[in-house]
Amino acid sequence: MELNNYEVIIGLEIHCQLKTNSKLFCSCPAEFEKEPNINVCPICLGFPGVLPVLNKKAVELALKLALALNCEINKKSTFARKHYFYPDLPKGYQITQYKEPLAYNGYLLIDNKKIRIRRVHLEEDSGKLIHTANETLVDFNRAGVPLVEIVTEPDFRSPKEVVSFIEELKAILIYLDISDADMEKGNLRCEPNISLRYNNYPSERREIKNLNSLKNVYQALEYEIGYQKSLLEKGKKVERATLLWNEKEKRTEIMRAKEEEEDYRYFPEPDLPPLIIREEDILKIKEEIKELPKERKERLIREYNIKEEFAEIIIRDKNLCDYYENLMKLVKDKNLATNWLINEVLRILNEKNIKINDFPLKMEEFSYFLNLLSDNKLPMGNIKKIFYELVEKKITIKDLATLLPEKKEDWDRVIFEVLEKEKEVVEKYKKGKKGVIGYLIGQVVKKLEGKADPRKVKEKIIKILEED
Ligand SMILES: [Zn+2]
Repeated sequence: MELNNYEVIIGLEIHCQLKTNSKLFCSCPAEFEKEPNINVCPICLGFPGVLPVLNKKAVELALKLALALNCEINKKSTFARKHYFYPDLPKGYQITQYKEPLAYNGYLLIDNKKIRIRRVHLEEDSGKLIHTANETLVDFNRAGVPLVEIVTEPDFRSPKEVVSFIEELKAILIYLDISDADMEKGNLRCEPNISLRYNNYPSERREIKNLNSLKNVYQALEYEIGYQKSLLEKGKKVERATLLWNEKEKRTEIMRAKEEEEDYRYFPEPDLPPLIIREEDILKIKEEIKELPKERKERLIREYNIKEEFAEIIIRDKNLCDYYENLMKLVKDKNLATNWLINEVLRILNEKNIKINDFPLKMEEFSYFLNLLSDNKLPMGNIKKIFYELVEKKITIKDLATLLPEKKEDWDRVIFEVLEKEKEVVEKYKKGKKGVIGYLIGQVVKKLEGKADPRKVKEKIIKILEED
């Protein structure tokens, strides 16, 4: 069967670690990249008879995100126990929000397309299993770390849209300072579900677990779309399943046939009262939400008169954006500075695989360089070389002073010397062969060892010859 007219349907579940000092229901530090099993207590290990206490800070951070995602806030939300038996969960259940989540019915605009957010809720993370050759070890440092889960409607029609959404969400999380949102460190985990609809008939959806980079998200979705399409083309059915992405072989593989929701046997968490959010809490949090990435982008375009594509690149990284705005305060020619940042600095960051905060040239040095450049105080033709030497620390910012052109009197002297020596050429110029001026400029610049700006030399020569 030829599978034309099919439509890709993708929805997302995203888990994001909130930036709190302590865990969601106890006072253990929420740091898990430490020696195993040191940040644990009877509460996060689920000993009998202990009571969880909700972390207020985690609620505030999740609320902030929900508001930034244009959600409605549930004035009363509740917690539930989600039961499953797996060694990473010592209690045998995970505390999460189920029937009444913290927030619902939001959206995020991606390239002017509305991606609807079904719900935003709080839940605790599980422990981490470490598989060695002979045994499986478990580290509970991560058990109980606060997560916010974002569930979208199946509004994505391509892997590209999914990647744009995650990029935008990451930027929002970082701007709001509520998560580091670093996928590689596991503080942002993405689980897409994919199905294909053809002839208005949707196939079963398959879910891919724990994707830990945008590249993996993109490749796994592309693979899965191709795979489901090939099944349907052969007239086969797509079976519901939970998948893992095999990064090495670049294909999805079945982790388990999808369990139904009732398998989790959700029921209300008896040890936690409902979470009540007051109108004044919402207003207070709204006030704390300053400028979101989209608004900052629009302001950059307005304020610095830069191209949208440049603004888009700059806002993606909050530190880069802060750097940019500080740089703008120091430079004379803002256009020139923007171009140098986008074209040269970002290329060097890419090459060296470093972030702006690790750029070897300090901002004061960079702006000094840019200001010399805009004042035409650097030798033309050598500028990129000088810049790379500065970055590589082969020359210092002080050395730039010696690169400044000779004093004007020296120029004049050299120009007169050249004109004196090249009398025949000067004659040609005076008879109308204006093109020979290039030769005269070349002679002057050569004598000045490249330290003079040819444009200025040209002006000067013309002035002298016309006055003659
Ligand atoms: Zn604890």
